Amino acid sequence: MSSSTTLPPPPIKSPHFSLWASPLSPLANFQSSSSLPSSADVVIIGSGFSGASVAYHLLVDPSSSTSSSYYHQNPSLTSSPNKKPRVVMLEARQTCSGASGRNGGHLHPSFTYGAATWATDDDATRNQHLAKIAFDAKNYSTLAALIAQNNIASAQSIFTDGPNNSPSSSLAAGWAVYDTPQEFAQACAVVSAYIQASPEPDHPPIRIYSRDEARKRTGLTNIAGALHCPATPLCGYSLVSWLLMECITKGNLQLHSNTPVRAVTRETPEAVGRDKPLEYVIKTSRGPIKTPVIIFATNAYTGNLVSKSTVSPKAYLDSIKQSVSPEVFARGSSAIVIPPSSQVTVKDYFSSARNVLSSTSSSMQGPAASLNNNPMHIDVEIETRLRTEIYPVRGQVAHYQAPHILTSQHLTAVRPTGVPKLSLVWNDEYLAVVPQRSGDAQGQVDIVFGGCRRFGASKQVGLTDDNSLSNVVSWTLDDYFATRIGVPLQSSEDPVEAMAGSFTRTLVLDDSKEANGSVATTTAVKVQEWTGIMGFTRDERPCVGSLIEDEEEAQAGPRVLVIGGFGGHGMPRIFLSAKALVHRYLRKVDDTEEANSWPLWFPSEYIN
Ligand SMILES: Cc1cc2nc3c(=O)[nH]c(=O)nc-3n(C[C@H](O)[C@H](O)[C@H](O)COP(=O)(O)OP(=O)(O)OC[C@H]3O[C@@H](n4cnc5c(N)ncnc54)[C@H](O)[C@@H]3O)c2cc1C
Repeated sequence: MSSSTTLPPPPIKSPHFSLWASPLSPLANFQSSSSLPSSADVVIIGSGFSGASVAYHLLVDPSSSTSSSYYHQNPSLTSSPNKKPRVVMLEARQTCSGASGRNGGHLHPSFTYGAATWATDDDATRNQHLAKIAFDAKNYSTLAALIAQNNIASAQSIFTDGPNNSPSSSLAAGWAVYDTPQEFAQACAVVSAYIQASPEPDHPPIRIYSRDEARKRTGLTNIAGALHCPATPLCGYSLVSWLLMECITKGNLQLHSNTPVRAVTRETPEAVGRDKPLEYVIKTSRGPIKTPVIIFATNAYTGNLVSKSTVSPKAYLDSIKQSVSPEVFARGSSAIVIPPSSQVTVKDYFSSARNVLSSTSSSMQGPAASLNNNPMHIDVEIETRLRTEIYPVRGQVAHYQAPHILTSQHLTAVRPTGVPKLSLVWNDEYLAVVPQRSGDAQGQVDIVFGGCRRFGASKQVGLTDDNSLSNVVSWTLDDYFATRIGVPLQSSEDPVEAMAGSFTRTLVLDDSKEANGSVATTTAVKVQEWTGIMGFTRDERPCVGSLIEDEEEAQAGPRVLVIGGFGGHGMPRIFLSAKALVHRYLRKVDDTEEANSWPLWFPSEYIN
């Protein structure tokens, strides 16, 4: 069966600038050659953390045998002299301009998967949660070692206190804090089970602090408890740039930014000749490229390329189109919109969308209309299957700058000496303190604070415009920053005016004390704000694996793989998910007995 569909055309062409992309990577607009090669052994679509991690494990990772013994049944397809696969990466916009280059900047493993239902879960379910926790922790340790061993300066500057520190001494810890005693108790139950199951973890110990101690140590006055756990701010943009540079210099990766994929089709035996292996034809803005192996590392946009087999791509598309946020899309439009309620759930979102779809036909106007005119839509003419839909959800992040004294005073978790850094999460909010990236202002730090999307229209579900902001979320972030972090906000701004879009609010701290006890007035200033598009799944698990039914796969023909749907929690899951994907599908088939199997450490729940 062939499905051909015109989908909403994300990614949009020009996303808003993010802090992490400053300075811009030399790979931002990189194209390995002036014209696309006509063929490749593997084509990766998407240059975020997922795509870069797959490329790295395929081409460079010394612990993976694939870099020298690439899978494929037909050796003639591996035409490069050193037997490394010829890998081409296609990116619609600038390199790493998706979620990976515009996120909240936390490598913050979760040690509390399944907390809400832990008390009633059976042993098998609890073990699945523990497997996911162990996987997060393994990603953390692996990335820590990678960054330290390779002296990845741009990432290391916020990961460690100095270039020569060993990973174990320099690993930062962070905080997960809880609002209510019930949430804290649930978290403690899971983390205690993990500690018991992993008596000698290869990461710093997790410490549990009950209310008073947690308040004292974090400086947060209204929390019920906290976990001090392995976590760190990390610039995903820098890490991805480093991974890609390694792939280009050591693995001859062909990177082509600003090259949107527009269509994916499969050759027919009639067209090619019955005795020739079939390949896919990927049509891009710069011409076609043929390959036997495609990897969709397209995150939030994956749902625009492939869809769960039980839901037609058309219905999926229309649900996204019709359920867009009223705040962003409704002006002047006849489109029916979901009320901007913080109560809208994903289920409501999908069902409302379908109801609307059956009762209304309308065209989008405003920003959506201009997106519609964008030619970056995809025709997929191959049958594919996702375990569950991946759908776009927009997150928003604000960047404040503050004197170091401010964070030291109010976030006592910041190290008293050395480079300040902090990773703090609670509810859906996340706050990172990092040394000022520009490095030109003594004693200043950058504070990146994100979340609060539940206050935005329809929880920002379905939005793919990362060049605009939700003013409601923007204002709520400011308010939370002031009230939750405890920095007094001296602002006469009316919230309504603030929501009109000023980025120059000043948060004034008038009670901070210098080391000598004198009182100083210091301020935090909001510098900029941006949005990014996350890829969520209905079952809240990533989709990693094959997009083709097993029977087809058994014929060892062309391969269509996916890695995506990491939601707002990709940094502690993606790197080793990519390694598992490469191990499972792209190793040379006769390598070891383990070939063609998933590594034991990979959570089976994530398999597509
Ligand atoms: C605002 C925000 C805050 C976040 N904060 C955190 C955090 O603090 N910690 C954490 O762990 N996770 C966080 N996340 C989630 C994390 O950033 C993601 O899980 C991760 O970056 C996903 O990486 P990816 O490579 O799968 O996707 P992306 O980085 O989105 O990469 C996908 C790429 O595919 C490209 N693409 C799509 N369609 C096409 C096409 N047709 N042709 C060519 N290219 C295409 C896109 O342009 C994009 O560059 C956050 C996400 C957002 C948006």
